[in-house]
Amino acid sequence: MTTSIASQLELLQQEIAKSREKRVNFPDNVRLIAVSKRQPLDKIEEAYQCGHRDFGENFVQEGVEKIQKLDKSDIQWHMLGAIQSRKCKDIATHFDWVQSVDRLKVIKKLDQAREGSPPLNVCIQVNLFGEEQKAGVDSTSCFELAEAIQEAEHLTLRGIMALPPKQTEYEKQLAQFDKIAALYRQLSDKYPQVDTLSMGMSGDFEAAIAAGSNMIRVGTAIFGPRDS
Ligand SMILES: *Cc1c(COP(=O)(O)O)cnc(C)c1O
Repeated sequence: MTTSIASQLELLQQEIAKSREKRVNFPDNVRLIAVSKRQPLDKIEEAYQCGHRDFGENFVQEGVEKIQKLDKSDIQWHMLGAIQSRKCKDIATHFDWVQSVDRLKVIKKLDQAREGSPPLNVCIQVNLFGEEQKAGVDSTSCFELAEAIQEAEHLTLRGIMALPPKQTEYEKQLAQFDKIAALYRQLSDKYPQVDTLSMGMSGDFEAAIAAGSNMIRVGTAIFGPRDS
């Protein structure tokens, strides 16, 4: 049991390397975010002991409790879930990245709450396939939000995060990720500091990397099934 997270992390790094070899035009490394939502603290601790330092959470209260209990200043915590504006202060106080920004009000509140600390790293969550049940914005709104983040004193625009429709076929996954990568290239042309294309999860990270992802968010493939 105790070696399983270590071996999963190692296996994933091998699969990431294999997927990176398939692409010619994207030299970026791929940063692996271990998504620890609804996973117990001891599993996070285990991944930390393996040297892992990037963790993602979806729920503010659960995330803040874990951040405080673990109390490791060298972990980068990524907020990935839906953002309620009344939780912006907690997010800005405890997290290092917010990947699920999707409206102006949240940008304003995060910016205000981050005053006095180093800038918060921000990705815009995009939703390019019209899925109404999911958060995220279309490409037009993405550029509006990007401008607002750019102007915010305590936020740094890092890129986009996407959670496209679930597909089981590789070619279909790839087609969706290619579309997101095209928007990412437009955004990074306009804002040179943009360096993060966050897409790919346990079921589709190979295709995401082939399409140019440089940040994947993997939960179950590292930690196993989540507590319900
Ligand atoms: C839960 C979640 C993940 C990880 O999903 P897995 O299928 O467990 O790898 C990645 N990104 C977001 C935004 C999530 O909510």
